[in-house]
Amino acid sequence: IVWKNDGSRRRRLGVMGGTFDPIHHGHLVAASEVGARFGLDEVVFVPTGHPWQKADREVSLAEDRYLMTTIATASNPRFSVSRVDIDRPGSTYTLDTLHDIRAHYGDDVDLFFITGADALSQILTWHGVLELFELAHFVGVSRPGTPLGDHDIAHLPADKVTLMEVPALAISSTDCRNRVQERLPIWYLVPDGIVQYIAKRGLYR
Ligand code: ATP
Ligand code: MG
Repeated sequence: IVWKNDGSRRRRLGVMGGTFDPIHHGHLVAASEVGARFGLDEVVFVPTGHPWQKADREVSLAEDRYLMTTIATASNPRFSVSRVDIDRPGSTYTLDTLHDIRAHYGDDVDLFFITGADALSQILTWHGVLELFELAHFVGVSRPGTPLGDHDIAHLPADKVTLMEVPALAISSTDCRNRVQERLPIWYLVPDGIVQYIAKRGLYR
Protein backbone atom coordinates (compact mmCIF):
# COMPACT_ATOMS: atom_id res chain seq x y z
CA ILE A 1 0.00 0.00 0.00
CA VAL A 2 1.36 3.38 -1.00
CA TRP A 3 0.34 6.37 1.12
CA LYS A 4 0.14 9.83 -0.31
CA ASN A 5 1.67 12.91 1.32
CA ASP A 6 -1.64 13.93 2.86
CA GLY A 7 -1.96 10.53 4.57
CA SER A 8 -4.57 9.14 2.22
CA ARG A 9 -4.01 5.93 0.34
CA ARG A 10 -3.45 5.74 -3.43
CA ARG A 11 -6.39 4.27 -5.25
CA ARG A 12 -5.89 0.73 -6.53
CA LEU A 13 -7.58 -0.14 -9.78
CA GLY A 14 -7.85 -3.57 -11.37
CA VAL A 15 -8.01 -3.75 -15.16
CA MET A 16 -9.63 -6.93 -16.46
CA GLY A 17 -9.12 -7.24 -20.18
CA GLY A 18 -10.96 -9.85 -22.20
CA THR A 19 -13.02 -10.61 -25.25
CA PHE A 20 -16.03 -11.38 -23.01
CA ASP A 21 -17.77 -13.29 -25.80
CA PRO A 22 -19.65 -13.97 -23.56
CA ILE A 23 -18.58 -12.85 -20.08
CA HIS A 24 -18.97 -15.76 -17.61
CA HIS A 25 -18.62 -16.51 -13.90
CA GLY A 26 -14.94 -17.43 -14.34
CA HIS A 27 -14.20 -13.81 -15.26
CA LEU A 28 -16.31 -12.47 -12.40
CA VAL A 29 -14.79 -14.77 -9.77
CA ALA A 30 -11.28 -13.96 -10.99
CA ALA A 31 -11.92 -10.22 -10.72
CA SER A 32 -13.49 -10.61 -7.30
CA GLU A 33 -10.64 -12.79 -5.96
CA VAL A 34 -7.90 -10.50 -7.26
CA GLY A 35 -9.82 -7.54 -5.85
CA ALA A 36 -9.87 -9.11 -2.39
CA ARG A 37 -6.25 -10.24 -2.48
CA PHE A 38 -4.86 -6.89 -3.63
CA GLY A 39 -7.34 -4.63 -1.82
CA LEU A 40 -8.55 -3.09 -5.06
CA ASP A 41 -10.98 -0.19 -4.85
CA GLU A 42 -12.45 -0.98 -8.24
CA VAL A 43 -12.08 -3.42 -11.12
CA VAL A 44 -12.75 -2.04 -14.57
CA PHE A 45 -13.64 -4.60 -17.22
CA VAL A 46 -12.33 -3.67 -20.65
CA PRO A 47 -13.85 -5.58 -23.58
CA THR A 48 -11.36 -5.78 -26.44
CA GLY A 49 -11.95 -4.17 -29.80
CA HIS A 50 -10.33 -6.49 -32.31
CA PRO A 51 -8.35 -9.05 -30.32
CA TRP A 52 -5.19 -9.77 -32.31
CA GLN A 53 -4.91 -13.21 -30.69
CA LYS A 54 -8.34 -14.18 -32.00
CA ALA A 55 -8.02 -13.18 -35.65
CA ASP A 56 -8.91 -16.75 -36.60
CA ARG A 57 -12.54 -16.63 -35.51
CA GLU A 58 -15.58 -14.37 -35.86
CA VAL A 59 -15.96 -12.36 -32.68
CA SER A 60 -19.39 -11.01 -31.73
CA LEU A 61 -20.12 -7.32 -32.25
CA ALA A 62 -18.25 -5.11 -29.82
CA GLU A 63 -21.53 -3.50 -28.78
CA ASP A 64 -23.03 -6.88 -27.78
CA ARG A 65 -19.91 -7.80 -25.79
CA TYR A 66 -19.90 -4.36 -24.15
CA LEU A 67 -23.57 -4.65 -23.16
CA MET A 68 -23.12 -8.19 -21.80
CA THR A 69 -20.16 -7.00 -19.72
CA THR A 70 -22.24 -4.10 -18.39
CA ILE A 71 -25.18 -6.37 -17.53
CA ALA A 72 -22.95 -8.91 -15.76
CA THR A 73 -21.13 -6.33 -13.64
CA ALA A 74 -24.03 -3.95 -12.91
CA SER A 75 -24.87 -5.33 -9.46
CA ASN A 76 -21.34 -4.96 -8.06
CA PRO A 77 -20.55 -1.40 -6.90
CA ARG A 78 -16.81 -2.12 -7.28
CA PHE A 79 -17.06 -3.29 -10.89
CA SER A 80 -17.25 -0.98 -13.88
CA VAL A 81 -16.82 -1.23 -17.65
CA SER A 82 -14.66 0.84 -19.99
CA ARG A 83 -15.16 1.43 -23.71
CA VAL A 84 -11.54 2.46 -24.37
CA ASP A 85 -10.67 -0.66 -26.38
CA ILE A 86 -13.88 -0.93 -28.37
CA ASP A 87 -13.82 2.77 -29.25
CA ARG A 88 -10.17 2.67 -30.44
CA PRO A 89 -9.89 1.64 -34.10
CA GLY A 90 -7.61 -1.25 -35.06
CA SER A 91 -6.27 -4.19 -33.10
CA THR A 92 -6.26 -4.06 -29.30
CA TYR A 93 -2.89 -4.00 -27.57
CA THR A 94 -2.53 -4.02 -23.80
CA LEU A 95 -0.08 -1.13 -23.97
CA ASP A 96 -2.79 1.11 -25.49
CA THR A 97 -5.36 -0.13 -22.98
CA LEU A 98 -3.18 0.78 -20.01
CA HIS A 99 -2.21 4.17 -21.48
CA ASP A 100 -5.87 5.05 -22.06
CA ILE A 101 -6.98 3.83 -18.63
CA ARG A 102 -4.22 5.85 -16.98
CA ALA A 103 -5.15 8.93 -19.00
CA HIS A 104 -8.75 8.53 -17.87
CA TYR A 105 -8.13 7.81 -14.18
CA GLY A 106 -5.07 10.03 -13.71
CA ASP A 107 -1.61 9.39 -12.29
CA ASP A 108 -2.96 8.98 -8.78
CA VAL A 109 -3.95 5.31 -9.19
CA ASP A 110 -1.98 2.08 -9.11
CA LEU A 111 -3.04 -0.26 -11.91
CA PHE A 112 -3.27 -4.05 -11.65
CA PHE A 113 -3.75 -5.76 -14.98
CA ILE A 114 -5.60 -9.04 -14.49
CA THR A 115 -5.27 -11.78 -17.04
CA GLY A 116 -5.31 -15.54 -17.29
CA ALA A 117 -2.02 -17.32 -16.63
CA ASP A 118 -2.31 -18.65 -20.17
CA ALA A 119 -2.53 -15.16 -21.59
CA LEU A 120 0.17 -13.89 -19.27
CA SER A 121 2.78 -16.14 -20.85
CA GLN A 122 2.04 -14.29 -24.08
CA ILE A 123 3.32 -11.15 -22.33
CA LEU A 124 6.75 -12.28 -23.37
CA THR A 125 5.77 -11.93 -26.98
CA TRP A 126 4.28 -8.48 -26.51
CA HIS A 127 6.37 -5.60 -27.72
CA GLY A 128 7.22 -3.03 -25.10
CA VAL A 129 7.13 -5.38 -22.13
CA LEU A 130 9.31 -3.07 -20.04
CA GLU A 131 6.94 -0.19 -20.67
CA LEU A 132 4.05 -2.44 -19.66
CA PHE A 133 5.75 -3.14 -16.33
CA GLU A 134 6.06 0.61 -15.71
CA LEU A 135 2.34 1.06 -16.23
CA ALA A 136 0.89 -1.76 -14.13
CA HIS A 137 1.41 -4.71 -11.88
CA PHE A 138 0.40 -7.93 -13.67
CA VAL A 139 -1.71 -10.61 -12.04
CA GLY A 140 -1.97 -13.99 -13.74
CA VAL A 141 -4.90 -16.07 -12.55
CA SER A 142 -4.87 -19.80 -13.07
CA ARG A 143 -7.78 -21.73 -14.43
CA PRO A 144 -8.28 -25.48 -14.27
CA GLY A 145 -6.00 -27.26 -16.72
CA THR A 146 -3.42 -24.52 -16.75
CA PRO A 147 -1.35 -25.14 -13.64
CA LEU A 148 0.83 -22.33 -12.37
CA GLY A 149 4.48 -22.87 -13.08
CA ASP A 150 3.84 -24.50 -16.42
CA HIS A 151 4.23 -21.12 -17.93
CA ASP A 152 7.41 -19.45 -18.96
CA ILE A 153 6.94 -16.64 -16.49
CA ALA A 154 9.18 -17.71 -13.64
CA HIS A 155 11.89 -15.30 -14.70
CA LEU A 156 9.63 -12.27 -14.81
CA PRO A 157 10.32 -9.74 -12.01
CA ALA A 158 8.39 -10.71 -8.85
CA ASP A 159 7.54 -7.11 -8.06
CA LYS A 160 5.83 -6.81 -11.44
CA VAL A 161 4.03 -10.13 -11.77
CA THR A 162 1.97 -12.18 -9.33
CA LEU A 163 0.45 -15.56 -10.07
CA MET A 164 -2.56 -16.63 -8.09
CA GLU A 165 -5.04 -19.45 -8.12
CA VAL A 166 -8.75 -18.73 -8.21
CA PRO A 167 -11.39 -21.26 -7.17
CA ALA A 168 -11.66 -23.94 -9.82
CA LEU A 169 -14.13 -22.77 -12.42
CA ALA A 170 -13.74 -24.78 -15.59
CA ILE A 171 -15.76 -22.24 -17.52
CA SER A 172 -14.65 -20.72 -20.80
CA SER A 173 -16.41 -18.50 -23.31
CA THR A 174 -15.64 -21.09 -25.99
CA ASP A 175 -17.54 -23.72 -24.04
CA CYS A 176 -20.47 -21.35 -23.47
CA ARG A 177 -20.68 -20.55 -27.21
CA ASN A 178 -20.54 -24.25 -28.10
CA ARG A 179 -23.28 -25.04 -25.59
CA VAL A 180 -25.57 -22.40 -27.05
CA GLN A 181 -24.93 -23.76 -30.53
CA GLU A 182 -25.75 -27.28 -29.35
CA ARG A 183 -28.87 -26.04 -27.50
CA LEU A 184 -27.39 -27.03 -24.14
CA PRO A 185 -28.05 -24.85 -21.09
CA ILE A 186 -25.62 -22.16 -19.95
CA TRP A 187 -27.61 -21.32 -16.81
CA TYR A 188 -25.26 -20.83 -13.83
CA LEU A 189 -22.18 -20.70 -16.04
CA VAL A 190 -23.00 -17.08 -16.85
CA PRO A 191 -25.18 -14.56 -14.96
CA ASP A 192 -28.94 -14.87 -15.58
CA GLY A 193 -29.06 -11.60 -17.53
CA ILE A 194 -26.45 -12.97 -19.95
CA VAL A 195 -28.50 -16.13 -20.64
CA GLN A 196 -31.42 -13.86 -21.48
CA TYR A 197 -29.38 -11.40 -23.55
CA ILE A 198 -27.87 -14.21 -25.65
CA ALA A 199 -31.34 -15.67 -26.31
CA LYS A 200 -32.87 -12.29 -27.09
CA ARG A 201 -30.12 -11.36 -29.57
CA GLY A 202 -29.82 -14.87 -30.99
CA LEU A 203 -26.06 -14.97 -30.40
CA TYR A 204 -23.91 -18.07 -31.07
CA ARG A 205 -26.56 -19.90 -33.09
P1 ATP B 1 -12.33 -17.96 -25.09
O1 ATP B 1 -12.75 -19.33 -24.71
O2 ATP B 1 -13.12 -17.36 -26.22
O3 ATP B 1 -10.86 -17.80 -25.25
P2 ATP B 1 -12.23 -17.06 -22.36
O4 ATP B 1 -13.19 -17.81 -21.52
O5 ATP B 1 -10.78 -17.41 -22.26
O6 ATP B 1 -12.74 -17.04 -23.86
P3 ATP B 1 -11.56 -14.30 -22.48
O7 ATP B 1 -12.50 -13.17 -22.73
O8 ATP B 1 -10.58 -14.68 -23.50
O9 ATP B 1 -12.46 -15.55 -22.06
O10 ATP B 1 -10.88 -14.13 -21.06
C1 ATP B 1 -10.34 -12.95 -20.54
C2 ATP B 1 -9.35 -13.36 -19.49
O11 ATP B 1 -9.98 -14.11 -18.44
C3 ATP B 1 -8.28 -14.26 -20.08
O12 ATP B 1 -7.03 -13.80 -19.62
C4 ATP B 1 -8.62 -15.63 -19.53
O13 ATP B 1 -7.45 -16.41 -19.35
C5 ATP B 1 -9.29 -15.33 -18.21
N1 ATP B 1 -10.24 -16.37 -17.87
C6 ATP B 1 -11.18 -16.87 -18.68
N2 ATP B 1 -11.91 -17.84 -18.08
C7 ATP B 1 -11.41 -17.95 -16.82
C8 ATP B 1 -11.73 -18.80 -15.67
N3 ATP B 1 -12.70 -19.71 -15.73
N4 ATP B 1 -11.00 -18.65 -14.55
C9 ATP B 1 -10.01 -17.73 -14.51
N5 ATP B 1 -9.65 -16.90 -15.54
C10 ATP B 1 -10.34 -17.01 -16.69
MG1 MG C 1 -9.36 -17.31 -23.71
